[in-house]
Formats: sequence, C-alpha cells, structure tokens
Amino acid sequence: MKVYIETFGCKVNFADSADILTMLANNSYEIAKDPEEADLYIVNSCSVTHRAERECRQIVRRFKNINPKAEILITGCSIKSEEFRDRASDIPFAKLIPFDDLLEYLALHKLEDIKPKFNRSRPFIKIQTGCDRFCSYCIVPHLRGKPQSVGKGIIIHRIEEALKQGFEEIVLVGTHIMLYKDPEGNGDIFDLLQRIEEMNYRFRLRLSSIEPYGITSDTIRLLMKSKKLCRHFHIALQSGSNRILRDMNRQYTKEEFEALISDIKTLIPQSTIGSDIIVGFPTEREEDFEETLETIRRLPVDYLHIFRFSPRKNTPAYNIKPVSTPAEIKRRAGILKKISFEKRRDMVLRSIGRDMDVVITDIDQSISSGITDNYIKVNIHKTGLKRGGMLRVRLISINPDNSANGEII
Ligand code: SF4
Repeated sequence: MKVYIETFGCKVNFADSADILTMLANNSYEIAKDPEEADLYIVNSCSVTHRAERECRQIVRRFKNINPKAEILITGCSIKSEEFRDRASDIPFAKLIPFDDLLEYLALHKLEDIKPKFNRSRPFIKIQTGCDRFCSYCIVPHLRGKPQSVGKGIIIHRIEEALKQGFEEIVLVGTHIMLYKDPEGNGDIFDLLQRIEEMNYRFRLRLSSIEPYGITSDTIRLLMKSKKLCRHFHIALQSGSNRILRDMNRQYTKEEFEALISDIKTLIPQSTIGSDIIVGFPTEREEDFEETLETIRRLPVDYLHIFRFSPRKNTPAYNIKPVSTPAEIKRRAGILKKISFEKRRDMVLRSIGRDMDVVITDIDQSISSGITDNYIKVNIHKTGLKRGGMLRVRLISINPDNSANGEII
C-alpha cells in the first residue's frame, strides 16, 4: 500500500510525521512522493489558527478528488479542536485518529524497536511536547496537554542514527524545549545538551524556537559552553507593549525581553536572533502597535515571524471584542514584515565576506542551497553536493530575497 503524508503546523508536527514515515517504511508500506500515487493519505493537522484548520480540510477534499477510493486519516492537533470537529462534518469520509492510536490502527511496530528514517536534510528530533503556560490566545495547552519529555536514551539513539546516516545538523524540537526533563530523572535540558555534546561525530545542533520564560544570562552562558550549538536563537516576544503582554498572559515585560536579547548579543556577537509577533490581539489599539514598533526597531533582533491573531474557541481571548478592524491589522502586519526584511538584510550584509559552515538542504539541477549556523540561506552554484552534509563556504554577495551567494573554499 502506498501512503502519502501531508503535514501542517509546527516543527513538532514535522518531527511526528517523520516518526510516522519511519514506522510505515519499516512495516512494508511504500511511501508515495506525490499524492497522485497514493491509496492511503495521512494528514498531520494543526489548530493554532483558523487558516491551518481550513487548509487541512481543503487538502482532505483534494485527496478525495485525486483518489475517491483511498482511505484518508487525520491525526494531530485538530482532532482535539472543538471547532475543527464541528466543521469536519463536511469531510465525513475522513477518519479522525489520535496520533497515539495510529500505530495500532495501521498495525505498526513501535518506533523504539526500529531504525529511524529521516525525511529532512536537517533531522528534527522531538524532545518534548505540551505546555502549561496558558497564554490567553493559545490553544496548544488544550490540545497537547501538560509538558511531557522524551527519554534521554531515546533521543540519543535517534540522534546517533541520524549522524550515522551522514546528517551533520540536528534540530531539537518541542513545544517548550527549555522545560525538558528526562522522565527517568536523568536531568534537564542542560544535561541533555551536555550528553549530545559528548557524541563523537562531526555535527552541529540547533534549538528550535524557545520561550523567554526562565532564560537568564546564566542560561546563555551555559548554552555558550557548547561547541556544537548554532549561534541562532528564535525567542517569542509576541508584543512590544506591556499592556498587551499582560492581556496575553505572557509573564514578562518588554524590558525583561530586551535585557535578555541584549545579553545574548553581547555574549555571542555573531548570533542571529529571530522572534514571533502577534498583531491584532483583540485589545491591541494603534498606540499599543506603535509601542511594539518602537520596541522592535530598538531590539537587536534579526528577523520576525509575524502572525495575525486568530481567535481560538476555549481560550480567554476568544471572547474579547476586537478594538481594531481587519484592515488595520493587515496594515500593521505589512509594516512589521517590511521592518523584518530590512533587519534580516542588515544581518546578511554583515556576514558577506565571512567563511561559514553551510549544511546543504536543497539540490537543484544547477544550484544547491543550504543554511549557515546563524541561519542565512546560501546558494551555491555547484551540483553533486550531499544533502545534509556540511561544507565550508565563503559568502560573497546578497540576493534580492536576502539569501546569500557562496563559494566552497
Ligand atoms: S508558552 Fe504560551 S504560546 Fe507557547 S505553547 Fe505555551 S501557551 Fe502557547
């Protein structure tokens, strides 16, 4: 049987999909490269925004059109979302199956018993899932539950398999990775990083996005001890207005966030720092947005991921009447997008002329591209490179889309 998997949402979902692929491939399923070839579809869904849920239902209908006889399974966050379940009546042919029940449903062996396969050039290794922070706009704690960590032994085994298969960058992913605690009591995130550091392979390690809670200068100093960790941090701010941060139930101030980011830049000057901003939180007025703009302009962040507020049922923010119109929110998102572009451009320009390690992520007919440790996309006009392998590259120029051109040295 040929299976096609479609994944929406966060890096944790992509890591889960890689696990599903491994289990399928080890249980005599064939993996379809295109939806047209498949007779079983698995949609790993996301419920963080309305849009993600809508796209999930759209793809399910598309798969039904491609192969009306195929079985379509939906797993992931959406199946626990009340709104999604209500609307799923328009796709009655799809089965909703919790991620943990997929194994049994498809008669798959457990991942621990088999050799992991990785479908990305930089394997995502899930170390943790869940969150109990309850930010007022966020549905994740309702869907993924309390923080749960993967055993240190399992993580090390998966990383080792990826390294043996020749991958030279590993990305640790989780909903809240700094909350990592080995379930057997064998330490926290720093113990895990220390254990990974001791692995005797040539590779580098990247942390997926982190929350600012509990991160101090001491945390950064501890992280700096690592020789393998990428100089790239993605830390969510969400708003540059203290009033909105309070309404969001984010338990820090913009001043505390600013101090953290400045510390990182002082301690690791070549680091790249990205952040998330939500525009159009229902209590956000024009003056709050102006405050966010001022904060962002001042902060030494190098790029932003900008999200428009999406009301999620069962969260406190769902019931607040918005004070701004959709057109105002769209305009605000556009302004931030422009600032983000300019900040990223400055960051890339500062790196032109430098020699950096680039992990190859994509290979085309005449051009390959990859990522530096400080998160710059680099195009290399050379073929025959190995996906997932690391090369020393000199960055020679910048492109209009803020990627760089590089030469292997
Ligand atoms: S910290 Fe807040 S935004 Fe992040 S997953 Fe937890 S509740 Fe959601």
